[in-house]
Amino acid sequence: MTASGDVTFVFRTHNTARYSMAAIIGALETDPRLQDLEIVAPHRFSLGLVRQIAARRRLIIGYSIMSTSRQELLKEAQYIRKEFGDSIVLVGGGAHATARPSELLSHGFDYVVVGEGEQAVRDLVDAVINEREPAGIPGVVTQQDESYPSPKDLPTVRLDDFPPFAIKTNVGGPIEVTRGCPFRCKFCATPFITGGRVRHRSIDSIVHWLSLAVDKWGFKRTWFLSPNALSYGGHGRRPSPEKMERLLRRVTSVPLFEELYFGSFPSEVRPDFVTRQLLDMMRQYVANKTVQIGVQSGSDRVLQLAGRNHTVAQGVDAVRIALDCGFVPHVDMIFGLPGESQADVSASLELCYDLVEMGAMIHAHVFMPLPGSAFENMPPGHLDRRCREVLGDLARRGVLTGSWGVQEDLARRVASPQ
Ligand code: SF4
Repeated sequence: MTASGDVTFVFRTHNTARYSMAAIIGALETDPRLQDLEIVAPHRFSLGLVRQIAARRRLIIGYSIMSTSRQELLKEAQYIRKEFGDSIVLVGGGAHATARPSELLSHGFDYVVVGEGEQAVRDLVDAVINEREPAGIPGVVTQQDESYPSPKDLPTVRLDDFPPFAIKTNVGGPIEVTRGCPFRCKFCATPFITGGRVRHRSIDSIVHWLSLAVDKWGFKRTWFLSPNALSYGGHGRRPSPEKMERLLRRVTSVPLFEELYFGSFPSEVRPDFVTRQLLDMMRQYVANKTVQIGVQSGSDRVLQLAGRNHTVAQGVDAVRIALDCGFVPHVDMIFGLPGESQADVSASLELCYDLVEMGAMIHAHVFMPLPGSAFENMPPGHLDRRCREVLGDLARRGVLTGSWGVQEDLARRVASPQ
């Protein structure tokens, strides 16, 4: 048995970490060095499970931490460190870990993976198993480090080098087809974490993993993850219709595969990428009846302050085109963005009514100052009484979704010091 034969890696299951769990476990289980590593993706993570495994094996617990779940997870990790001492290795990664590595280290984590995790986690787990210091692994920081790397200075991951999910460990998930975004919306942490260079998973790789999932799991449907679905195949600044059609045609031809969801929640499309030609083509292949469009505000001034690089009119055009092409547009709107005045809020609420009148649905959000975003130091979004009343009215009519009440509270928690 190799050194990895007495080590177990447990991924701390959490509803904010489902996608990263599939990708990270997929990366671990396909590394030839780690074939004897026991990987556990528990349906429910518990201290009982930790005690049970730690009693018989060396244990690494992997956390993927988003800013919205950091309070609960950091508290738990701190407790685990206290109860188990140095007998357990705690590894943290994810969006919050990338932006605030020191917060994790001060809560007892041994190692933090900054930036894209697939290769770094593989190398780190291999180092831990073989009791080597992980010095020199790009993106891995430890208690001894005095400064931390920025994701932009780290090697970028090539999606084709890793599976999108974990076939062997049986952890499914969407297929991430595009990573990175060249836009710089100030409320968004994606450009900080995954960089401005757009990378696509190749069609061959997508079809390969999808076919395996169909064979092994009887996968009948899947959805694609992308910061901007209509950017597939290009450099990220404009669509590449031929490559996109090739992708959709090949994927929907996989035998026994039935439904592809593309450009719908949790992915999104930018309004300035929506054209009749693209959506008409998409309609022939995809199963989704909806398309998720990020309009974000009814005020050009707020859009400009947020660095969105499109106008309200482009948003309205995109909604009209989506309707003409037979989709129900689901429109993302953010309330409480920095610099938003009362007049801007009114413009956003008016826009919601207009879009609903046209036949769209609204997906309402409250601005959160996400660490790593350009707006990270801005005050969290707050909804005034009129805004609540209008959103509540639209929700009661069944044309608006989104948990803006919960998000307002989450936004405050994201903004608060640990
Ligand atoms: S909101 Fe979308 S388009 Fe803007 S930076 Fe984030 S991922 Fe890119």
